[in-house]
Amino acid sequence: MKIYEDFELPSGGHLYPYYKGQIGECEGLEELERATPTQRQDSLICDILQKCLKEPFDVGELVMPDFVYLQIRGRVATYGKRYDYPIECPFCGEVHQATNLNELEIIPFDVEKWDKDRVIRIPATNDIEDRNGDEIVLRLPSVREREEIKLDRSSAHAGVMKVAYAIEQVNGKKKNAIEKESYAMELSQAAKRVILSRVDKLANFGVSLVQKFECERCKKVVSYPFHCRTAQFWLPTVD
Ligand SMILES: [Zn+2]
Repeated sequence: MKIYEDFELPSGGHLYPYYKGQIGECEGLEELERATPTQRQDSLICDILQKCLKEPFDVGELVMPDFVYLQIRGRVATYGKRYDYPIECPFCGEVHQATNLNELEIIPFDVEKWDKDRVIRIPATNDIEDRNGDEIVLRLPSVREREEIKLDRSSAHAGVMKVAYAIEQVNGKKKNAIEKESYAMELSQAAKRVILSRVDKLANFGVSLVQKFECERCKKVVSYPFHCRTAQFWLPTVD
């Protein structure tokens, strides 16, 4: 019988209705070895994760912080909590081999901060810009949308789509995909930069990008950048 573990996604039901579930051992991971970076690696991981959920939902609809968290739960359900992640202590040189995936620092989703940060006004940086002062409500792109952006053959268009996917409303009106794209195309470089940097801020919940631990040898606190966005994350830990 397959064993399932409970999980609760960091967005906590504030972004979409599905956020709680049970995940079991992931199968089909060898597919990842065949995928090159130019292929849809995240889509492949979405398919793999979806199949190991007890009650499947569309993993491609998740925003990145939830997707990262679900990958960690999937890895724990498959290989256990230990993950080889060598870090050298900058104070004494001791090398720490592994990270306990159950002890990663998680930044909680803050509804008040989210509601405040997702509303921005286009800055008046350019006198001829007729979008000055527009009020935009932002959103986070889904994993699937991010994959589409990555596969865009023209980098200029990918830049526009990145902005388009970040927009939910303009001046109180919801926009459809086509309206968002043409609106994003009209924006100044300054406005695009403001939107994209705010989107980064919105995504700052879930697994903290900076993790800390106390060095066993010198007892100092060591900070290190943590990410699971490599194919290596899905390889087993072998002694
Ligand atoms: Zn140390």
